[in-house]
Amino acid sequence: MGELLRRLRRKAEALDAVDELARFRARFYIPPDTVYMDGNSLGLLSVNAERSVLRVLDQWRTLAIDGWLDAQPPWFWAGEHLGELACPLLGAEPDEVVLTGSTTANLISLAAAFYRPNQSRYKIVVDELNFPSDLYALAGLAEMLGYEPQRAIVLVRSGDGLIIDEEDIIAAMGPDVALVVVAGALYRSGQLLDMGRLCQAASDRGIPIGFDLSHSIGAVPHFLDDWGADFAFFCTYKYLNGGPGSTAGLYVNRRHRHVWPALRGWWGSDKQRQFDMSLEYRPASSAGRFQIGTNNLLSLAAVAGSLELFAEAGIERVRKKSLQLTDLLMEGIDLMSDLGVAVGTPREHERRGGHVAVLCEHAAGVADRLKAHRVIPDYRPPNIVRLAPVALYNTFADVCTALEHLEDILAAREYERARPMREIT
Ligand SMILES: *Cc1c(COP(=O)(O)O)cnc(C)c1O
Repeated sequence: MGELLRRLRRKAEALDAVDELARFRARFYIPPDTVYMDGNSLGLLSVNAERSVLRVLDQWRTLAIDGWLDAQPPWFWAGEHLGELACPLLGAEPDEVVLTGSTTANLISLAAAFYRPNQSRYKIVVDELNFPSDLYALAGLAEMLGYEPQRAIVLVRSGDGLIIDEEDIIAAMGPDVALVVVAGALYRSGQLLDMGRLCQAASDRGIPIGFDLSHSIGAVPHFLDDWGADFAFFCTYKYLNGGPGSTAGLYVNRRHRHVWPALRGWWGSDKQRQFDMSLEYRPASSAGRFQIGTNNLLSLAAVAGSLELFAEAGIERVRKKSLQLTDLLMEGIDLMSDLGVAVGTPREHERRGGHVAVLCEHAAGVADRLKAHRVIPDYRPPNIVRLAPVALYNTFADVCTALEHLEDILAAREYERARPMREIT
């Protein structure tokens, strides 16, 4: 084992030596003496994000109210401006994306516009492995419109609690289905769904489909326009490094420019007329109409700084390195199968997002001990330790360091003396 891991480290050193994204690590604040592998829960602060927040603070100090139009870029357009910066990550056009609100609130707003139930067609297809917030939100919406959630929600089951078969989602798209909402990448196993295929199947049946991209944006390129997705929404504090609770985003395909938001507010107005304060609502023709109220400028500022880094690095290069990192990590986990760990993430590149689910019996204890060794993972009950080596700030050597600590913990059964871990996101 020791020799095998040493060989892996030599491989990692060779990969680090030719890593074309290596220079980006210095732009991030890495906690001291730490291997941070939790960027799929909360991405790290970058120098760019910090600067960009300081810039908005400075604008507030010097411009006060005039910042709305005179700041560069003007605060008034910040949601749209950032939507434009996020386009390359989504495969979308600028008028289809806006940064605003929170992930779950955006889902509710989009679903309220696209879910048009009637007595014969009122079901919503979701998968049981998606983030539960989505399920709560959609069940609440169905209930609000007078449909019993138990009857309205069609839960697509997973055979093993890790993987959802796209065939099962498609099979659930019956004639009584009015909406499909699924994740791009599953938050536990890291499975990446075949979004193109799901869009095609939904479109063939005339059912609107939306994607929760929280666990794929910033790790995986998307082609929402080419796929023909109807809508999507995402958070920005995971792989996008926008900071704790940072403003989320949404996408609406431009063929739906006539779909009005059901949850309306003045921030979704046609910007030229917003300050007319007319009693008549005139929505923007862009996805900006799905904004409800004034955006949080300080939070958007952090996302702006972070998106600069993606523009520089390019999502294709980020994806390439991310796959190399997770390949190496999986190779190391395979070497430790005798110690009771296994890979719970699909092997095929096109079927996985940016993290690796490590299955192990004593996952809570292992995660706690990894933290004690200054390797930051996260724990998903009952038996998953998630490790996310992030292309912009982790090295291949980081992956080896994490593996070496994991091996020590397993070999010495250190998990037996772990503190019970708080089960948080
Ligand atoms: C993180 C995450 C969310 C978060 O929702 P919030 O409204 O930001 O709390 C939603 N969906 C998925 C799939 C996530 O991974």
